[in-house]
Amino acid sequence: MSREKTTIYRKGLGVQDKIKNRLEQDYFSGIVSYLKAHDFTLSSGGLTIYLAREFGFCYGVERAVNYAYQTREKFPDRRIFLIGDMIHNPFVNRQLREMQIEILPVPETGKEDYSFLKKEDVVVLPAFGIPVSTLELLKQPGCILVDTTCGSVMSVWKRVESYAKEGYTVLVHGKYWHEETRATVSHALKAPGGKYLVVLNKQEAQFVCDFIRRGGPREGFMEKFRQALSSDFDPDRDLQKIGLANQTTMLRGESMEIAEMIKTALAARFGAKNLTKHFRNFDTVCSATQDRQDAVVELLTQKKVDLMLVVGGFNSSNTGHLAEISSKYVPTFHIENAGCILNDKAIRCRDAADGREKIKRDWLPIGPVKIALTAGASTPSSIIGEVVTQLLAFHRKQIE
Ligand code: SF4
Repeated sequence: MSREKTTIYRKGLGVQDKIKNRLEQDYFSGIVSYLKAHDFTLSSGGLTIYLAREFGFCYGVERAVNYAYQTREKFPDRRIFLIGDMIHNPFVNRQLREMQIEILPVPETGKEDYSFLKKEDVVVLPAFGIPVSTLELLKQPGCILVDTTCGSVMSVWKRVESYAKEGYTVLVHGKYWHEETRATVSHALKAPGGKYLVVLNKQEAQFVCDFIRRGGPREGFMEKFRQALSSDFDPDRDLQKIGLANQTTMLRGESMEIAEMIKTALAARFGAKNLTKHFRNFDTVCSATQDRQDAVVELLTQKKVDLMLVVGGFNSSNTGHLAEISSKYVPTFHIENAGCILNDKAIRCRDAADGREKIKRDWLPIGPVKIALTAGASTPSSIIGEVVTQLLAFHRKQIE
């Protein structure tokens, strides 16, 4: 197919001043500003709320949302599309849909096909990036692309590409189904003979380590990682030189442990003195994710609280990890928005242990209560502000 010329915006669209007010109107919260100005603390009638010092929108998401708004401003009459969700927050995605920014339809065959796009259409690429093959397909019709891929994600891509070029199998600590990881592993395939494998957690990493040390039935390995490895992966051949990276929103502690496990297994198999030829590692958890995780630990080790509320999309990886960390310290409720606080007796939340949505009862202690609060990197302040308002209302009602 002949290719039309594609215009790609990567550094904004030059209409920042025109969208400032609209962004503020959609995402600003007076009550969150109050908390920040008052040592991240708010007390009222026996309820004390402590907000983590790093919370909510990260630089990558803020930029992506900003570019999406700029796109609508610059092209008021064009069809504008997104590749799936822009970020993992239902409120933000709804706002974009209200601006007639639609998600690209997936054909019934499940096979990507963007041939219906016209030259004058605009497609906004998400902060977590898209696979190399999808970008190539999107370039075919010659439409306008607005690339909001976060710089921290692109650094992981560079790392992964360099591993693959040097003949290392790319091993990613991440979720194989997550958009960011799908985009990341596609960069391993840019190098001739590039290979990848994705492990979700320490259990899966242990399985890989056991195979490195002792080998094993190839079929068992292939079945376990069926959806998480490159098409011609061969565990007997492709686990001898490994370069590690991680999805930017994982738990850094877990990523480090996995790196150590793989390193030890390779040293056992090939000898410690040969390790540099067999193992590469670079921590690719982004600073925004790390700052939010650290702020949760700091808050929960410094303040004695009754519970923690973590606000963010139920499908948001980094929000889930904040809840996981917090639940090691205090009872934790991961909610999507203020609507999840049904009343002072019941709350709808995502269970950190099994990832399922549940209604939990008697979540708000009676009497004076101290609540810690944080939000994932895709949660705007407006949503956090609504949660605070709801908390104040239910607590007041409880006292009455
Ligand atoms: S979480 Fe990190 S990598 Fe992802 S968009 Fe935000 S800053 Fe970028």
